[in-house]
Amino acid sequence: MPGVRLVNLLKQFGKTIAVDRIRLDIEDGEILTMLGPSGCGKTTTLRCIAGFLIPDEGEIYLGNQHVTTLPPEQRDIGFVFQNYALWPHMTVYDNLAFGLRLRQISKTEIKTRVDNALAMVRLSGFAERYPRQLSGGQQQRIALARALVIEPNVLLLDEPLSNLDAQLREEMRFEIRELQKRLGITAVYVTHDQAEALALSDRIAVMNKGVITQIGTPEQIYNQPSNRFVAGFIGLSSFVEGTVTQLNQANGCAVVTTSDQVNLRVPGDHLSPQQKVTLAIRPEYITLKKNMTEAVPEQANVLEGEVIRAAYLGDVIDYRISIGQWVLRVHTPTDSILPAGEKVQLIIPPERITLIPGDLGQS
Ligand code: ATP
Repeated sequence: MPGVRLVNLLKQFGKTIAVDRIRLDIEDGEILTMLGPSGCGKTTTLRCIAGFLIPDEGEIYLGNQHVTTLPPEQRDIGFVFQNYALWPHMTVYDNLAFGLRLRQISKTEIKTRVDNALAMVRLSGFAERYPRQLSGGQQQRIALARALVIEPNVLLLDEPLSNLDAQLREEMRFEIRELQKRLGITAVYVTHDQAEALALSDRIAVMNKGVITQIGTPEQIYNQPSNRFVAGFIGLSSFVEGTVTQLNQANGCAVVTTSDQVNLRVPGDHLSPQQKVTLAIRPEYITLKKNMTEAVPEQANVLEGEVIRAAYLGDVIDYRISIGQWVLRVHTPTDSILPAGEKVQLIIPPERITLIPGDLGQS
């Protein structure tokens, strides 16, 4: 299966730059997710790859084939839409056979391929039903089978799960990934749902305002966000601004001091004295203690804070803790809830603090 290559892709609608000269290499057999907020250009990019839109500038390659201006039917691409887009007046069989008949494939071959595609999505026996006789999840699986039955080189999926309920969405994520891996097909998946992106992607391209702001594995995107936007968009982070006041501490740590003189030990590589930085800290990496008695690792940050409020979320308690002028979110197990005004200690290992150059005004 070929990969997909986008070279300086630009697409404008009037004065709106929907996709701003993006470059992207999607590996052969990879499932890459384009993740970003509404309006960041994900669907436009996908539609350019499919051939539903022609970019204003740049080039698109499927493998070695230059396809930028080829019509969709000459691109060997399967597309799964958010609203399924099944033909309501056709049976499941005819929905799947439609694309094959256009390609003038023999009746026997069509029958074999439709049967195989239905088996792939575990809906053998549904061939004679109409879409209205299927649940949402079944319709989405038929839409997937219809995209796969033409044996495309590349599968494009545009928010395919957003009309399904939460439990079904979770199941379908795994089904899609499992099927994509089994077939070894290159897939580009568009979503604004970060849990979906983290669960099913080989790599995630995070988009904002028409550009790719970071690309990496789910773990890299989550644990090493390279800018303020990604740190804020993926998962939950608290942000603290400060200035580098000490370098070359033991274990390669540096010290960052906030404007209200809170000192935090952070990973010290590549920092310069007096550099302004933003620290991003995930709630699950902070330990909260009340009347701490036990010893903590020498390098760990121990901060005095005060509970502003606590919310019971079922699996965790979500605290807002003030540290000077900063507010940190902290997630703890649900054994007991501390009320507002309680004094607490927070333990933060330096290696769990992510450094982002600049202050919060910059991204
Ligand atoms: P969503 O998650 O809401 O679908 P998206 O990231 O897929 O958003 P796009 O649909 O690619 O975003 O849109 C990117 C920008 O281009 C938006 O500002 C949108 O309003 C604009 N846009 C998209 N299609 C058109 C169009 N046909 N005509 C005019 N503007 C458009």
